[in-house]
Amino acid sequence: MTLILGLETSCDETAAAIVRDGQIVLSNVVATQHDLHQRYRGVVPEIASRAHLQNINPVIQESLDRAAITLNDLDAIAVGHRPGLIGSLLVGVSAAKTIAWATDIPLIGIDHVQAHLHAATLTDPPTSNKPAPQIDPPSWRGNSITGNPKSDFSVTSNPQPGNPQPPPTASSNAAPNTPSQNKGSGVVSKEIQTTKSTPDPLINSGAQNKAPGTFTPADAPAKLTFPALGLVVSGGHTSLYAMNSPTDLTLIGATIDDAVGEAYDKAAVILNLGYPGGPKLDKLAQQGDPTQHDLPRSMLAKDSLDFSFSGLKTAVLYTVRGHPKGRGAAAKFQRSIDDLNEQQITNIAAAFQAAAIDAIIKKLKRAVQHMTDQGTPPQSLVIGGGVSANSLLRTRATELGEQLNITVRIPAFAYCLDNAAMIAGLAHTHYQAHNFANLDLPAIASGSV
Ligand code: ADP
Ligand code: MG
Repeated sequence: MTLILGLETSCDETAAAIVRDGQIVLSNVVATQHDLHQRYRGVVPEIASRAHLQNINPVIQESLDRAAITLNDLDAIAVGHRPGLIGSLLVGVSAAKTIAWATDIPLIGIDHVQAHLHAATLTDPPTSNKPAPQIDPPSWRGNSITGNPKSDFSVTSNPQPGNPQPPPTASSNAAPNTPSQNKGSGVVSKEIQTTKSTPDPLINSGAQNKAPGTFTPADAPAKLTFPALGLVVSGGHTSLYAMNSPTDLTLIGATIDDAVGEAYDKAAVILNLGYPGGPKLDKLAQQGDPTQHDLPRSMLAKDSLDFSFSGLKTAVLYTVRGHPKGRGAAAKFQRSIDDLNEQQITNIAAAFQAAAIDAIIKKLKRAVQHMTDQGTPPQSLVIGGGVSANSLLRTRATELGEQLNITVRIPAFAYCLDNAAMIAGLAHTHYQAHNFANLDLPAIASGSV
């Protein structure tokens, strides 16, 4: 049995997780900074790194407590060290090095993008082996508590199958080692989170719906089958990979402008939906009529596996405000979002979602064909990154897999967005290969596989 602590601080989530043998998530703690960045409608790097500094130690302690272990039980410590915001990455990397040095366990550097493609293989532990949570989470994901005097930082923990989480009410129980309250200063904004407990049919979790104690090797979470086609869709990436193994990836396509998550966030700003916009736009789109507007699906050259989303974003802007007179800052639009009614906004959201996901599905088809032409037809399609939480992408990718007879792996919702379980999970492959880093492991802002 191998226990790895993973740390993730590449952007605006401070996360720590304990994963057993690469796939069984014993704890998964995420401190979000959304409240801090909301007013700027995007992540402010300096604010992010300062918040990471304040969150990192309590989040690590919380992940250990929830897994009911101490630092001495760890076999290794892994950290996402690239790519990301440099000041943010440095916090996680420094913390990981400190723990590796102090406890004399191996340090493993993990590529954040590769880790997203490991997320679909993560699963909850069998009920019988899962330690009971040590604290009552004060609220569920997205329901932030205001005024809890004892704890104001966020925790994402895996609900136990068959053992529902407490209702989303405030708890007076304080998490051990939670930071002191900071609401008055406005410096750190935190919310307690916990993952949804409703079984998701797309979750690749053999243990998901089993009665307690029935976990057997046959129920173990499935490994990916290779060759695989990997798709990472997030706020920073829209990339296709031909995968021979979890760590042997070749980039075969990427966005030439905006990432799809970035396009979602920008379209959400145009539609006045707030930040982060992707999940809000997705929710609204499900109630709209996508056929009212025909928005562009950028396919680029005939065989291109690259993506482009900036045209779609501009099309949304013009649909909302009309074509402008003049250019740049001097552009005068015909109307504003305030001139549209709710149904019109909902229909534009639906048309955006249809166009964005359609473009991705079409590229996935091309990529399957490309790999087949190369003599390596994919056995599975694995998706990761924040946009893999998208309702339409999940449905359409599953349909595509059925159509092409390819196994589709999509993460459970808790592991779509940035998290540390995917870091600790992928680290197991490196651990087995003795692929360890030295204490001079660098934080690297750009570049990935
Ligand atoms: P990063 O890009 O920093 O690695 P994540 O992997 O956490 O971050 O992805 C965050 C992105 O995912 C954001 O752009 C967010 O809007 C987007 N996103 C999250 N949920 C959804 C959804 N349901 N539909 C579309 N986009 C989503
Ligand atoms: Mg990410």
